[in-house]
Order: sequence, then C-alpha cells, then structure tokens
Amino acid sequence: MAEKTLFQKIIDREIPSDIVFEDEQCVAFRDVNPQAPTHILIVPRKPIPTLDDLTEDDGPLVGHLFLVAKQIAAAEGLDDGYRTVFNCGKNAQQSVFHLHLHLLGGRSFSWPPG
Ligand code: AMP
Repeated sequence: MAEKTLFQKIIDREIPSDIVFEDEQCVAFRDVNPQAPTHILIVPRKPIPTLDDLTEDDGPLVGHLFLVAKQIAAAEGLDDGYRTVFNCGKNAQQSVFHLHLHLLGGRSFSWPPG
C-alpha cells in the first residue's frame, strides 16, 4: 500500500493537529505555518493527490469543500472577506500531495498573488 500522506496521518489522528471542523467527507484544521490570522486547510478524506487527479465524480466533493469553507469563514468571523486557494503542482508550490483547500482570512490580501 502507498505511504500515507501527512494529511492522511492527520485525518487518521496519527499526527496531532488543531481540527476546527469535520464531517463524513472532509476534515479542516489550522495550518501549522499560518499565512494570515485565520489559515485553515480543508482536506477531503478521500486521498486525491492534486486538482489534476479530480474526476467528474469528485464534483460534488469539491463543491462541498467550498461550502465548508464558507461555513468556517462565518464561524471564524471573516465578515470582511477571505481567500480560498488550491495550489496545484510545482509552479503553484504545492508541497503536500493530498488535495486541500486553503481558507485564509483576517487581513487584506493583494492581487495578483505572489
Ligand atoms: P501546499 O503548499 O498548498 O501544499 O500547502 C501545504 C500546507 O500544509 C502549508 O501551508 C503548510 O504550512 C501546511 N502544513 C504542513 N505540515 C502541517 C501540519 N503538520 N499541520 C498543519 N499544516 C501543515
């Protein structure tokens, strides 16, 4: 069997993390190296490596991740807005190859991103 990803180990409670939300489809926890006052990673339980690995069947799951992001943003009081990001592959600096949606908030962000 393939080696578990870091995030799979977090989902399986083999590595500690600050979990803020979970349901049958995903787990959300605080990023260990936050880039904003609120920085949460929303991770599907299904071990999909990258955005490129999604299939048509994963459409509802991805939609669910965004609905969870919206729900957490409200719970975190991000009333002035927030950013959601999927990094995909080398040029986007993806470092953990288990799909995850970044939810960032609590400060103002510039555009274009760096
Ligand atoms: P990415 O670069 O898009 O693959 O994002 C991976 C994210 O995982 C980075 O923002 C890291 O800070 C974060 N990260 C790495 N290890 C941990 C960990 N043990 N707990 C929480 N977040 C982590």
